[in-house]
Amino acid sequence: MGKTLRIAIVGGGLGGTTAGIMLQQAGYDAKVYEAAPALERIGAGIHLHSNVTRVMRAIGVDKKMFEIGLSPKSWLSREWDTGRVLYEPSMKEWEQKYGIPHLIMHRGDMQAVLTSALKPELLKFGKRLVDLGNRGDSLEMIFADGTREEADVVIGADGVNSQVREVLLGQEPPTYTGFVAYRAIFDAALLGPERVTADTTKWWSDERLAAKEDRHFIIYYLTAKRDEIYFVTGSPDPNWGGGTSPVSATKKEMLECYKGFHPEVQRVINACPKVSKWPLLERDPLPLWSKGSIVLLGDACHPMKPHMGQGAGMAIEDAAVLVRCLQLSEDDPAKAFELYRRNRIERTSEVQRVSHENTWMHYPGDESWVFGYDAMTVPLV
Ligand code: FAD
Repeated sequence: MGKTLRIAIVGGGLGGTTAGIMLQQAGYDAKVYEAAPALERIGAGIHLHSNVTRVMRAIGVDKKMFEIGLSPKSWLSREWDTGRVLYEPSMKEWEQKYGIPHLIMHRGDMQAVLTSALKPELLKFGKRLVDLGNRGDSLEMIFADGTREEADVVIGADGVNSQVREVLLGQEPPTYTGFVAYRAIFDAALLGPERVTADTTKWWSDERLAAKEDRHFIIYYLTAKRDEIYFVTGSPDPNWGGGTSPVSATKKEMLECYKGFHPEVQRVINACPKVSKWPLLERDPLPLWSKGSIVLLGDACHPMKPHMGQGAGMAIEDAAVLVRCLQLSEDDPAKAFELYRRNRIERTSEVQRVSHENTWMHYPGDESWVFGYDAMTVPLV
Protein backbone atom coordinates (compact mmCIF):
# COMPACT_ATOMS: atom_id res chain seq x y z
CA MET A 1 0.00 0.00 0.00
CA GLY A 2 2.94 2.25 0.83
CA LYS A 3 2.51 5.98 0.36
CA THR A 4 -1.12 5.52 -0.71
CA LEU A 5 -2.00 4.61 2.90
CA ARG A 6 -4.67 6.99 4.17
CA ILE A 7 -3.49 7.98 7.64
CA ALA A 8 -5.76 9.78 10.11
CA ILE A 9 -4.32 11.39 13.21
CA VAL A 10 -6.94 12.01 15.88
CA GLY A 11 -5.83 14.99 17.99
CA GLY A 12 -3.79 17.93 16.74
CA GLY A 13 -1.88 18.59 19.98
CA LEU A 14 1.90 18.58 20.26
CA GLY A 15 2.37 14.88 19.49
CA GLY A 16 -0.29 14.55 16.80
CA THR A 17 0.85 17.65 14.94
CA THR A 18 4.48 16.49 15.01
CA ALA A 19 3.42 13.12 13.59
CA GLY A 20 1.34 14.91 10.92
CA ILE A 21 4.26 17.08 9.84
CA MET A 22 6.62 14.13 9.59
CA LEU A 23 4.17 11.99 7.67
CA GLN A 24 3.35 14.81 5.26
CA GLN A 25 7.08 15.54 4.79
CA ALA A 26 7.60 11.84 4.02
CA GLY A 27 4.93 12.02 1.32
CA TYR A 28 2.05 10.24 3.08
CA ASP A 29 -1.60 11.15 2.78
CA ALA A 30 -1.97 12.15 6.45
CA LYS A 31 -4.84 14.19 7.84
CA VAL A 32 -5.13 15.60 11.35
CA TYR A 33 -8.57 15.73 13.01
CA GLU A 34 -8.66 18.11 15.99
CA ALA A 35 -11.62 18.54 18.35
CA ALA A 36 -11.00 22.23 19.11
CA PRO A 37 -12.75 24.66 16.77
CA ALA A 38 -9.56 26.67 16.21
CA LEU A 39 -6.04 27.21 17.42
CA GLU A 40 -5.94 28.91 20.83
CA ARG A 41 -3.05 30.29 22.87
CA ILE A 42 -3.94 28.16 25.90
CA GLY A 43 -2.29 29.28 29.13
CA ALA A 44 0.70 27.14 29.91
CA GLY A 45 4.44 27.11 29.51
CA ILE A 46 6.62 24.30 28.33
CA HIS A 47 10.21 23.18 28.78
CA LEU A 48 11.71 21.70 25.62
CA HIS A 49 14.85 19.80 26.40
CA SER A 50 17.38 18.74 23.77
CA ASN A 51 15.59 15.43 23.11
CA VAL A 52 12.67 17.58 21.86
CA THR A 53 14.46 20.54 20.23
CA ARG A 54 16.46 17.96 18.24
CA VAL A 55 13.22 16.67 16.68
CA MET A 56 12.04 20.25 16.10
CA ARG A 57 15.28 20.88 14.19
CA ALA A 58 14.81 17.72 12.13
CA ILE A 59 11.36 18.88 10.97
CA GLY A 60 12.57 22.44 10.32
CA VAL A 61 10.64 24.40 12.96
CA ASP A 62 13.40 25.01 15.50
CA LYS A 63 14.52 28.45 14.22
CA LYS A 64 11.05 29.95 14.63
CA MET A 65 10.71 28.45 18.09
CA PHE A 66 14.10 29.76 19.23
CA GLU A 67 13.12 33.23 17.99
CA ILE A 68 9.96 33.26 20.11
CA GLY A 69 11.02 31.32 23.20
CA LEU A 70 13.99 31.69 25.51
CA SER A 71 17.15 29.60 25.81
CA PRO A 72 17.60 29.98 29.55
CA LYS A 73 20.91 31.34 30.85
CA SER A 74 20.52 29.22 33.94
CA TRP A 75 18.37 26.46 35.42
CA LEU A 76 18.14 26.51 39.18
CA SER A 77 17.06 23.94 41.73
CA ARG A 78 16.54 25.66 45.10
CA GLU A 79 15.57 24.84 48.65
CA TRP A 80 12.05 25.97 49.50
CA ASP A 81 12.73 28.37 52.38
CA THR A 82 16.39 29.36 52.45
CA GLY A 83 16.77 29.52 48.68
CA ARG A 84 19.99 27.49 48.96
CA VAL A 85 21.01 26.33 45.47
CA LEU A 86 20.79 22.54 45.27
CA TYR A 87 21.74 22.12 41.62
CA GLU A 88 22.70 24.54 38.90
CA PRO A 89 23.71 22.74 35.72
CA SER A 90 25.58 24.87 33.21
CA MET A 91 23.39 25.64 30.22
CA LYS A 92 26.51 26.18 28.07
CA GLU A 93 27.78 22.72 28.97
CA TRP A 94 24.36 21.19 28.23
CA GLU A 95 24.35 22.83 24.82
CA GLN A 96 27.85 21.58 24.05
CA LYS A 97 27.08 18.11 25.33
CA TYR A 98 23.70 17.68 23.62
CA GLY A 99 24.34 19.74 20.49
CA ILE A 100 21.30 22.00 20.78
CA PRO A 101 20.03 24.41 23.44
CA HIS A 102 17.22 23.91 25.87
CA LEU A 103 14.16 26.09 25.24
CA ILE A 104 11.35 27.48 27.38
CA MET A 105 8.28 28.96 25.75
CA HIS A 106 4.52 29.40 25.73
CA ARG A 107 2.86 26.15 24.80
CA GLY A 108 0.42 27.99 22.53
CA ASP A 109 3.33 29.56 20.64
CA MET A 110 4.89 26.15 20.17
CA GLN A 111 1.59 24.73 18.95
CA ALA A 112 1.18 27.65 16.51
CA VAL A 113 4.63 27.08 15.01
CA LEU A 114 3.97 23.35 14.64
CA THR A 115 0.52 23.89 13.15
CA SER A 116 1.91 26.35 10.60
CA ALA A 117 4.17 23.56 9.31
CA LEU A 118 1.17 21.34 8.45
CA LYS A 119 -0.51 21.63 5.07
CA PRO A 120 -3.59 23.68 6.04
CA GLU A 121 -5.96 21.66 3.86
CA LEU A 122 -5.01 18.51 5.78
CA LEU A 123 -5.79 19.87 9.25
CA LYS A 124 -9.47 19.65 10.18
CA PHE A 125 -10.64 21.62 13.22
CA GLY A 126 -13.95 20.99 15.00
CA LYS A 127 -13.65 17.20 14.55
CA ARG A 128 -14.20 15.49 17.89
CA LEU A 129 -13.98 11.72 17.42
CA VAL A 130 -16.81 9.88 19.15
CA ASP A 131 -16.44 6.42 17.65
CA LEU A 132 -14.16 4.33 15.52
CA GLY A 133 -14.73 0.94 13.92
CA ASN A 134 -14.11 -1.26 10.90
CA ARG A 135 -15.90 -0.71 7.65
CA GLY A 136 -14.87 -3.35 5.12
CA ASP A 137 -11.11 -3.00 4.64
CA SER A 138 -11.08 0.52 6.08
CA LEU A 139 -11.46 2.16 9.46
CA GLU A 140 -14.38 4.50 9.88
CA MET A 141 -14.23 7.49 12.22
CA ILE A 142 -17.41 9.10 13.49
CA PHE A 143 -17.25 12.68 14.72
CA ALA A 144 -19.46 14.64 17.11
CA ASP A 145 -20.64 16.88 14.25
CA GLY A 146 -22.19 13.80 12.60
CA THR A 147 -19.60 13.49 9.82
CA ARG A 148 -17.74 10.28 9.00
CA GLU A 149 -14.32 9.76 7.46
CA GLU A 150 -12.43 6.66 6.36
CA ALA A 151 -8.75 5.83 6.76
CA ASP A 152 -6.41 2.85 6.54
CA VAL A 153 -4.51 3.77 9.69
CA VAL A 154 -5.67 5.74 12.74
CA ILE A 155 -3.17 7.30 15.14
CA GLY A 156 -4.77 8.19 18.48
CA ALA A 157 -2.97 11.34 19.66
CA ASP A 158 -6.00 12.62 21.52
CA GLY A 159 -4.50 13.20 24.94
CA VAL A 160 -5.12 11.97 28.45
CA ASN A 161 -8.87 11.39 27.93
CA SER A 162 -8.29 9.60 24.63
CA GLN A 163 -11.33 8.29 22.81
CA VAL A 164 -9.11 6.10 20.65
CA ARG A 165 -7.64 4.48 23.78
CA GLU A 166 -11.19 3.77 24.89
CA VAL A 167 -11.94 2.01 21.59
CA LEU A 168 -8.86 -0.18 22.10
CA LEU A 169 -9.07 -0.84 25.84
CA GLY A 170 -12.51 0.13 27.08
CA GLN A 171 -13.69 2.93 29.29
CA GLU A 172 -11.42 3.69 32.24
CA PRO A 173 -10.76 7.22 33.40
CA PRO A 174 -7.16 8.22 34.17
CA THR A 175 -6.10 8.14 37.83
CA TYR A 176 -6.11 11.33 39.85
CA THR A 177 -2.68 11.44 41.54
CA GLY A 178 -3.75 13.39 44.64
CA PHE A 179 -1.93 16.44 43.30
CA VAL A 180 -2.93 19.52 41.34
CA ALA A 181 -0.94 22.08 39.39
CA TYR A 182 -1.62 25.74 40.07
CA ARG A 183 -0.80 27.63 36.91
CA ALA A 184 -0.68 31.27 35.86
CA ILE A 185 0.83 33.33 33.08
CA PHE A 186 1.20 37.06 33.41
CA ASP A 187 3.03 40.17 32.31
CA ALA A 188 6.47 40.10 33.98
CA ALA A 189 6.18 43.86 34.57
CA LEU A 190 3.65 43.05 37.31
CA LEU A 191 6.57 41.81 39.40
CA GLY A 192 7.86 45.38 39.60
CA PRO A 193 11.50 46.33 39.25
CA GLU A 194 12.70 43.25 41.14
CA ARG A 195 12.29 40.34 38.74
CA VAL A 196 13.18 36.71 39.46
CA THR A 197 16.68 35.43 40.13
CA ALA A 198 16.93 33.00 37.23
CA ASP A 199 15.27 32.31 33.88
CA THR A 200 13.88 29.09 35.30
CA THR A 201 13.78 27.92 38.91
CA LYS A 202 12.27 24.93 40.65
CA TRP A 203 11.64 25.43 44.37
CA TRP A 204 11.50 22.07 46.15
CA SER A 205 9.62 21.48 49.36
CA ASP A 206 10.87 20.53 52.79
CA GLU A 207 12.30 17.03 52.43
CA ARG A 208 10.91 16.05 55.83
CA LEU A 209 7.38 16.13 54.40
CA ALA A 210 5.73 12.81 53.58
CA ALA A 211 5.50 11.97 49.86
CA LYS A 212 1.81 12.82 49.79
CA GLU A 213 2.62 16.27 51.20
CA ASP A 214 5.40 16.94 48.67
CA ARG A 215 5.00 20.25 46.84
CA HIS A 216 7.08 22.35 44.50
CA PHE A 217 6.89 25.65 42.68
CA ILE A 218 8.39 26.27 39.22
CA ILE A 219 8.84 29.74 37.74
CA TYR A 220 10.07 30.60 34.26
CA TYR A 221 9.95 33.16 31.48
CA LEU A 222 8.06 32.27 28.32
CA THR A 223 9.52 34.66 25.77
CA ALA A 224 12.90 35.71 24.41
CA LYS A 225 12.10 39.23 25.65
CA ARG A 226 11.41 37.93 29.19
CA ASP A 227 8.19 39.94 29.23
CA GLU A 228 5.87 37.07 30.11
CA ILE A 229 6.26 34.89 33.18
CA TYR A 230 4.71 31.57 34.18
CA PHE A 231 4.43 29.45 37.25
CA VAL A 232 3.32 25.88 37.61
CA THR A 233 3.26 23.82 40.77
CA GLY A 234 2.79 20.30 42.00
CA SER A 235 0.63 20.66 45.10
CA PRO A 236 -1.19 18.09 47.24
CA ASP A 237 -4.95 18.31 47.06
CA PRO A 238 -6.79 15.36 48.57
CA ASN A 239 -10.10 17.22 48.14
CA TRP A 240 -10.15 17.43 44.36
CA GLY A 241 -13.79 17.03 43.42
CA GLY A 242 -13.21 14.77 40.42
CA GLY A 243 -13.30 15.65 36.78
CA THR A 244 -10.43 16.17 34.41
CA SER A 245 -10.86 19.85 33.56
CA PRO A 246 -9.15 22.82 35.22
CA VAL A 247 -10.97 25.11 37.65
CA SER A 248 -10.18 28.58 38.87
CA ALA A 249 -8.31 28.93 42.16
CA THR A 250 -7.47 31.67 44.64
CA LYS A 251 -4.23 33.28 45.67
CA LYS A 252 -5.33 32.73 49.27
CA GLU A 253 -5.26 28.95 48.92
CA MET A 254 -1.91 29.15 47.15
CA LEU A 255 -0.40 31.34 49.85
CA GLU A 256 -1.61 28.80 52.39
CA CYS A 257 -0.08 25.91 50.42
CA TYR A 258 3.25 27.75 49.99
CA LYS A 259 3.42 29.24 53.48
CA GLY A 260 7.03 29.58 54.61
CA PHE A 261 8.41 29.35 51.06
CA HIS A 262 11.09 31.85 50.03
CA PRO A 263 10.03 35.52 49.54
CA GLU A 264 10.57 35.17 45.76
CA VAL A 265 7.80 32.54 45.64
CA GLN A 266 5.49 34.73 47.75
CA ARG A 267 6.22 37.71 45.50
CA VAL A 268 5.35 35.76 42.34
CA ILE A 269 2.09 34.47 43.85
CA ASN A 270 1.12 37.96 44.98
CA ALA A 271 1.86 39.47 41.57
CA CYS A 272 -0.27 37.09 39.53
CA PRO A 273 -3.66 38.46 38.54
CA LYS A 274 -5.46 35.14 38.09
CA VAL A 275 -4.72 31.50 38.79
CA SER A 276 -6.16 28.16 37.69
CA LYS A 277 -5.86 24.67 39.13
CA TRP A 278 -5.39 21.51 37.06
CA PRO A 279 -5.75 17.93 38.26
CA LEU A 280 -2.61 15.87 37.67
CA LEU A 281 -3.58 12.59 36.06
CA GLU A 282 -1.69 9.48 35.12
CA ARG A 283 -2.10 5.85 34.08
CA ASP A 284 -0.04 2.74 34.60
CA PRO A 285 1.73 1.60 31.41
CA LEU A 286 -0.93 0.21 29.05
CA PRO A 287 -1.01 -3.51 28.20
CA LEU A 288 -1.68 -2.64 24.56
CA TRP A 289 -0.54 0.26 22.38
CA SER A 290 -2.17 -0.80 19.13
CA LYS A 291 -4.65 -3.16 17.59
CA GLY A 292 -4.49 -3.84 13.84
CA SER A 293 -4.17 -0.47 12.15
CA ILE A 294 -5.01 1.64 15.21
CA VAL A 295 -2.19 2.94 17.38
CA LEU A 296 -1.71 5.37 20.28
CA LEU A 297 0.92 7.97 21.07
CA GLY A 298 1.69 10.56 23.74
CA ASP A 299 -0.70 11.19 26.61
CA ALA A 300 -3.30 8.90 25.00
CA CYS A 301 -0.84 6.10 25.68
CA HIS A 302 1.25 7.05 28.73
CA PRO A 303 -0.02 10.12 30.61
CA MET A 304 2.21 11.09 33.51
CA LYS A 305 2.74 13.65 36.23
CA PRO A 306 4.51 16.59 34.58
CA HIS A 307 7.40 16.66 37.04
CA MET A 308 10.17 15.86 34.57
CA GLY A 309 8.85 18.31 31.97
CA GLN A 310 8.83 15.40 29.54
CA GLY A 311 5.17 14.57 28.74
CA ALA A 312 5.23 16.45 25.46
CA GLY A 313 8.79 15.26 24.98
CA MET A 314 7.63 11.65 25.06
CA ALA A 315 4.71 12.42 22.70
CA ILE A 316 7.09 14.05 20.22
CA GLU A 317 9.64 11.25 20.45
CA ASP A 318 6.79 8.75 19.97
CA ALA A 319 5.73 10.60 16.82
CA ALA A 320 9.23 10.45 15.35
CA VAL A 321 9.79 6.77 16.14
CA LEU A 322 6.29 5.81 14.98
CA VAL A 323 6.80 7.46 11.59
CA ARG A 324 10.18 5.76 11.19
CA CYS A 325 8.62 2.36 12.00
CA LEU A 326 5.82 2.97 9.53
CA GLN A 327 8.33 3.82 6.82
CA LEU A 328 10.15 0.55 7.52
CA SER A 329 7.00 -1.55 7.33
CA GLU A 330 4.43 0.47 5.42
CA ASP A 331 2.76 -2.57 3.86
CA ASP A 332 2.09 -4.00 7.29
CA PRO A 333 1.09 -1.25 9.76
CA ALA A 334 0.36 -3.76 12.54
CA LYS A 335 3.98 -4.95 12.35
CA ALA A 336 5.20 -1.34 12.30
CA PHE A 337 3.19 -0.58 15.42
CA GLU A 338 4.60 -3.59 17.27
CA LEU A 339 8.13 -2.41 16.40
CA TYR A 340 7.20 1.07 17.64
CA ARG A 341 5.88 -0.22 20.98
CA ARG A 342 8.91 -2.42 21.48
CA ASN A 343 11.20 0.55 20.98
CA ARG A 344 9.28 2.96 23.16
CA ILE A 345 7.67 1.20 26.09
CA GLU A 346 10.69 0.83 28.34
CA ARG A 347 11.68 4.48 27.98
CA THR A 348 8.22 5.96 28.41
CA SER A 349 7.48 3.71 31.40
CA GLU A 350 10.70 4.82 33.08
CA VAL A 351 9.88 8.48 32.42
CA GLN A 352 6.39 7.88 33.88
CA ARG A 353 7.98 6.33 36.96
CA VAL A 354 10.54 9.08 37.57
CA SER A 355 7.93 11.77 36.91
CA HIS A 356 5.70 10.16 39.50
CA GLU A 357 8.48 10.26 42.09
CA ASN A 358 9.32 13.91 41.46
CA THR A 359 13.05 13.55 41.97
CA TRP A 360 14.33 14.66 38.54
CA MET A 361 17.13 17.24 38.69
CA HIS A 362 16.62 17.94 42.38
CA TYR A 363 20.32 17.31 42.89
CA PRO A 364 23.18 16.74 40.42
CA GLY A 365 22.72 13.50 38.49
CA ASP A 366 23.01 12.01 35.03
CA GLU A 367 20.39 13.42 32.65
CA SER A 368 21.98 12.07 29.48
CA TRP A 369 19.61 9.07 29.16
CA VAL A 370 16.77 11.56 28.65
CA PHE A 371 18.40 14.54 26.93
CA GLY A 372 20.84 12.56 24.79
CA TYR A 373 18.14 10.46 23.09
CA ASP A 374 17.78 11.15 19.38
CA ALA A 375 14.39 9.89 18.20
CA MET A 376 15.41 10.50 14.57
CA THR A 377 18.39 8.16 14.62
CA VAL A 378 18.12 5.85 17.63
CA PRO A 379 18.57 2.29 16.33
CA LEU A 380 15.25 0.43 16.10
CA VAL A 381 15.46 -2.98 17.65
P1 FAD B 1 -2.21 16.86 23.91
O1 FAD B 1 -1.16 17.89 23.72
O2 FAD B 1 -3.07 16.89 25.11
O3 FAD B 1 -3.12 16.90 22.61
C1 FAD B 1 -4.28 16.14 22.48
C2 FAD B 1 -5.15 16.83 21.42
O4 FAD B 1 -6.23 15.98 21.09
C3 FAD B 1 -5.74 18.15 21.91
O5 FAD B 1 -5.49 19.13 20.96
C4 FAD B 1 -7.22 17.83 22.06
O6 FAD B 1 -8.04 18.94 21.79
C5 FAD B 1 -7.41 16.74 21.02
N1 FAD B 1 -8.52 15.82 21.29
C6 FAD B 1 -8.91 15.32 22.49
N2 FAD B 1 -9.94 14.47 22.34
C7 FAD B 1 -10.21 14.43 21.01
C8 FAD B 1 -11.17 13.74 20.23
N3 FAD B 1 -12.06 12.88 20.79
N4 FAD B 1 -11.18 13.92 18.88
C9 FAD B 1 -10.27 14.76 18.30
N5 FAD B 1 -9.35 15.46 19.01
C10 FAD B 1 -9.31 15.28 20.35
N6 FAD B 1 5.45 18.35 28.89
C11 FAD B 1 6.70 18.73 28.53
O7 FAD B 1 7.30 18.09 27.64
N7 FAD B 1 7.32 19.81 29.12
C12 FAD B 1 6.70 20.53 30.10
O8 FAD B 1 7.29 21.50 30.61
C13 FAD B 1 5.39 20.14 30.53
N8 FAD B 1 4.72 20.81 31.52
C14 FAD B 1 3.48 20.38 31.91
C15 FAD B 1 2.82 21.00 32.99
C16 FAD B 1 1.56 20.56 33.41
C17 FAD B 1 0.91 21.20 34.60
C18 FAD B 1 0.92 19.51 32.71
C19 FAD B 1 -0.45 19.03 33.14
C20 FAD B 1 1.56 18.88 31.64
C21 FAD B 1 2.84 19.30 31.25
N9 FAD B 1 3.53 18.66 30.22
C22 FAD B 1 4.78 19.04 29.86
C23 FAD B 1 2.91 17.48 29.57
C24 FAD B 1 2.35 17.82 28.23
O9 FAD B 1 1.49 18.92 28.29
C25 FAD B 1 1.62 16.62 27.65
O10 FAD B 1 2.29 15.44 27.98
C26 FAD B 1 1.55 16.74 26.14
O11 FAD B 1 0.76 17.85 25.79
C27 FAD B 1 0.99 15.49 25.50
O12 FAD B 1 0.89 15.70 24.12
P2 FAD B 1 -0.21 14.92 23.28
O13 FAD B 1 -0.06 15.39 21.88
O14 FAD B 1 -0.13 13.48 23.58
O15 FAD B 1 -1.59 15.40 23.88
